[in-house]
Amino acid sequence: MEAEMRVFVDSLRKNITAEDVVNLEACMDCKMCGEACAWYLVTGDEKLHPTHKTGLIRQVYQRYMTIEGQIGGALGLVPTPTVDDLKENMRYFWACTACGRCTLACPAGISTRRIVRLARAAYADSGLSHANPTIKSIIDNTERYRHSFGLTIPQVIGRVGLFLRSEGIVAPVDVHGAELLFVCPAAGNAKIPDYGIKMVKILNAAGVSYTISPRVIDTGTEIDHIAVHHNLSKQMLEEWEEEADRLGVRKILLVECGCDARTLYAEASEVLGRPFRYPIVSVDTLMLDLIREGRLPIEKTDLSVTLHDPCYATRLSGLGDVFRDLLYLVTGNFVEMTPNREHNYCCNGGAGGMRLPENTDLRRKISVLKANQIRATGAEYVTSPCVVCTLSLEDTCRTYGLAQSDERMALVLFEIVYEAMEPALAKRGELERMYVPEELRNRDPEFFLEHSIEGRMAALMEMPEFPALLDWLERDEIVQRFAKDHPQVYDHLRALRDMTTLTMPALRARAVAEQSSFGSRKGGDS
Ligand code: SF4
Ligand code: SF4
Repeated sequence: MEAEMRVFVDSLRKNITAEDVVNLEACMDCKMCGEACAWYLVTGDEKLHPTHKTGLIRQVYQRYMTIEGQIGGALGLVPTPTVDDLKENMRYFWACTACGRCTLACPAGISTRRIVRLARAAYADSGLSHANPTIKSIIDNTERYRHSFGLTIPQVIGRVGLFLRSEGIVAPVDVHGAELLFVCPAAGNAKIPDYGIKMVKILNAAGVSYTISPRVIDTGTEIDHIAVHHNLSKQMLEEWEEEADRLGVRKILLVECGCDARTLYAEASEVLGRPFRYPIVSVDTLMLDLIREGRLPIEKTDLSVTLHDPCYATRLSGLGDVFRDLLYLVTGNFVEMTPNREHNYCCNGGAGGMRLPENTDLRRKISVLKANQIRATGAEYVTSPCVVCTLSLEDTCRTYGLAQSDERMALVLFEIVYEAMEPALAKRGELERMYVPEELRNRDPEFFLEHSIEGRMAALMEMPEFPALLDWLERDEIVQRFAKDHPQVYDHLRALRDMTTLTMPALRARAVAEQSSFGSRKGGDS
């Protein structure tokens, strides 16, 4: 057997379960699964049919992992897949979002997404997937930075800190004993940190006890679902647990981002060999509870909104009712798309659909199904609780002329909640509730400085790399996008640059004084 094939087979052998063997052996080749898969339905390309993917892995399994195959292969009676076959067909395993829709159409309930996941892990273990530059970058960035897009901790903190600072909003960092550890997915803090500020405002306004970690800046979904690199996924999950231990939090808070709910609800056990040690709370469940308990005031909006059910959160994790309950509370004009819930079509963005640039043309082509679904609702906005779905929907709306190139038709679900919260706070004269988090209210200036993103920014200023960070922020396209509605952000950038010319003791004294005045101005109004 060729060396790479040996490692590929060893990986399959290590990860395969009895259920996977059934998935491989029970197929009747009826092809009904293809009728549920957007990649095949729209293109008619047999190589994009679910069975093209499962067929190759079945051949590898039967030839190298069964006695009959080993004997039959030696006699030339069964096909012998080669490393060239694996290389030639690799792209089809990533022309799939592992969305699980095909399983609904299969009379035997076969999970193609599970076989795709096994295959991706085997491609990673054998080193074959390193030939794809995006997959290699996800692995390299995760190894080096623990952030799949390759952002550093100062870049993540610096960018979010700049946005918060320019709006006068504070977020808690490294607060020991908070109830929730809020971990932001890499796609969230790399692609929508400006929209994410609304999430911080919601948590602050509701008086949620939470903290952000200064060490964990990625939920690890890309390494777990795109690269399917089990060793790195395991390390990241263990680091989450260690960070939660260090901070003494009780639960982990997540914004859905492609696969986060699935990663921690279900697939962590596969990677860790045991369940994840902390309970997971999705922001959508949390917001629903906060509204029902009267901790988050809302005024129902009249925004006309349709919902895209994320495959991983609804079909694969059963959260569909939570999203609807939330939408019925915050808008009087919610309209279902058809089909919906577990039958919904994928956005075609998750698990690499959007991240791999070679998929772009095909993804846009097959997203005609999603565009038609949205168009048929006549809704003004489409929302999804998932960041990656929202980014993919935004691209689909623009591609199919549902929205202009500078218009946002796709919103993350917490943005719709925000639209209902802000007027309710304004009506009560309580907008200040958004500014300071529960954990930093009425704290002394030293604590405030030590445990707020503002304070972390002051600490960053003491680093020799701070001017380079400011240069990066100045060129950053997310900062430019934020500046369209918040032009004051550049004044804050200039002010930060001026402060770097101060001596260190003067800088620290000034930062303490600033926090002190900020804390007393915003802290007493809870
Ligand atoms: S998991 Fe989804 S994208 Fe993949 S083959 Fe099945 S339906 Fe198609
Ligand atoms: S629908 Fe199920 S049994 Fe039929 S070809 Fe697809 S995976 Fe095989």
